[in-house]
Amino acid sequence: MKRVLITGGAGFLGSHLCDRFIKEGFYVIAMDNLITGDLRNIEHLFKHPNFEFYHHDVSKFIHVPGELDYILHFASPASPIDYLKIPIQTLKVGSLGIHNCLGLARVKKARVIIASTSEVYGDPLVHPQTEEYWGHVNPVGPRGVYDEAKRFQEAMTMAYHTYHGLETRIVRIFNTYGPRMRLNDGRVLPAFIGQALRGEDLTIFGDGSQTRSFCFVADLVEGIYRLLLSDYAYPVNIGNPAEITIKQFAEEIIKLTGTDQKIVYKPLPKDDPKQRQPDITKAKEILGWKPKVTRAEGLAITYDYFKSLPKERLYEEANHRD
Ligand code: NAD
Ligand code: UDP
Repeated sequence: MKRVLITGGAGFLGSHLCDRFIKEGFYVIAMDNLITGDLRNIEHLFKHPNFEFYHHDVSKFIHVPGELDYILHFASPASPIDYLKIPIQTLKVGSLGIHNCLGLARVKKARVIIASTSEVYGDPLVHPQTEEYWGHVNPVGPRGVYDEAKRFQEAMTMAYHTYHGLETRIVRIFNTYGPRMRLNDGRVLPAFIGQALRGEDLTIFGDGSQTRSFCFVADLVEGIYRLLLSDYAYPVNIGNPAEITIKQFAEEIIKLTGTDQKIVYKPLPKDDPKQRQPDITKAKEILGWKPKVTRAEGLAITYDYFKSLPKERLYEEANHRD
């Protein structure tokens, strides 16, 4: 049985990856320090014979007994309000954390895939973003802690690939949504749906003309799975190219939820990217992958999930526990 370590396994994406690898017949070790994650995302796996959970900070030395075939490094705060509150941990997990994962991979002769991000393109001057674009990042701006950690993580991963011959994969993930996002994580989809469910106005930052392209989690997981098993070591964008302004997105959520709340406008955060859309030519050509779930389908599934949660979860504060 192949064994896989998933760091950030109790988070939104990590927990869906745990499900997928269990389904594919792997032995899965999820590792997480729960700083932004939630054990409720994986509690359904606790009794599974092929699943283990390690409560551990991957920025500290990682010890995993036995063999490992694959390491998926997904540990990192991912939402702007998270990484603004815990900037040092964000930088550490993208630098010390990946170093520990790569060192572990060398010992175990495992293949590593890292969760990189469209944020490596910063506030992009090229649109849509291809993997060849080097980006437009402000290293000392508020988002720099995340963007530069991820850029460093890519550089470190390529160095282990070229210098040590380690098998590595890099996925550049664009905005992804779905069940198990934290309602209070500040990202736009849980923010809008949370506001609609609590009967609050929807907060648009800026004038809402900035764009994003939202990918449903099941499509993303499929892309990651294919990339991991491919033989391509350079970065690959995985995302849904269906681009939308944040204003249109708010209107879609208002229609979906039937809320009679209105839209209110708040200041745009510094360095908030004005536009973002993945060019997925590489994913199509190399992996035969493209997204299948439309935004209407994905949003309906996600809304059903949030509606099914106990009411008190609508009012939970972020823990950022360590
Ligand atoms: P998330 O916050 O739900 O999950 C991140 C998980 O990592 C959490 O469970 C958290 O507790 C854990 N973690 C953080 N620091 C850790 C540490 N030092 N040691 C152990 N565990 C730690 O976020 P997510 O949306 O699931 O993001 C997962 C990964 O995907 C991140 O690396 C993120 O940068 C990347 N990513 C996500 C998106 C997206 O749209 N969701 C887009 C681009 C990249
Ligand atoms: N946003 C917004 N209202 C909110 C939360 C976010 O208008 O309550 C905007 C945010 O300024 C950004 C977009 O929605 O332009 C996407 O934000 P998110 O934090 O989800 O992702 P990222 O900026 O990292 O792509």
